[in-house]
Amino acid sequence: MSLLSGLVHLVLAVAATMSPAPTVALTFDDGPGPHTAQILDALESAGAVGTFFVVGDQLPGREQLVADLVDAGMSLQWHSASHPDLTGVSDSRLAAELDIPGSLPGPDPSCVRPPYGATDSRVNQAATGAGLEVTLWGVDPRDWAATSSQQVIDAVMADVEDGSVVLLHGREHTANALPQLLERLHGAGFQTVLLCA
Ligand SMILES: [Zn+2]
Repeated sequence: MSLLSGLVHLVLAVAATMSPAPTVALTFDDGPGPHTAQILDALESAGAVGTFFVVGDQLPGREQLVADLVDAGMSLQWHSASHPDLTGVSDSRLAAELDIPGSLPGPDPSCVRPPYGATDSRVNQAATGAGLEVTLWGVDPRDWAATSSQQVIDAVMADVEDGSVVLLHGREHTANALPQLLERLHGAGFQTVLLCA
């Protein structure tokens, strides 16, 4: 290696350190469900990762699917047992909603995303007591209301920036949007990262 090319390599290495790739955390709420396997496929095919906030009621019968998420290196986190507005339930119900079944595979979840993003000091305190950090989002493409996968892609790309946490759901249009969405994100230099892992 000549002195000049050595210098060029050094400059490039320093530049890479100074400007790391922008990151985006894709999060998927309300699963596991009928589109979770497709979402996992799309993430794996693109070499991407995602964080799944699961609902306890959705788990029975989908044990293998949830194990597949963990095996694929995705982050499995909690979204309550039965998806109520946690600010409106009794203390005992709140504790039950935050109680994570021991059968959940992988490392214990460290985060909870309250349904509807509805939280208050009582919910925050109960979550902390249960060892869970309340985790919301920064970008909401309203994918649950989208009538096409293109709408989901456009809504995410319009708002995403370095460090964004994107709220998505296990919906058909979202699952269908993922291959192209991941291509666009990677094309824009984004690297997907896990939350709470
Ligand atoms: Zn939800």
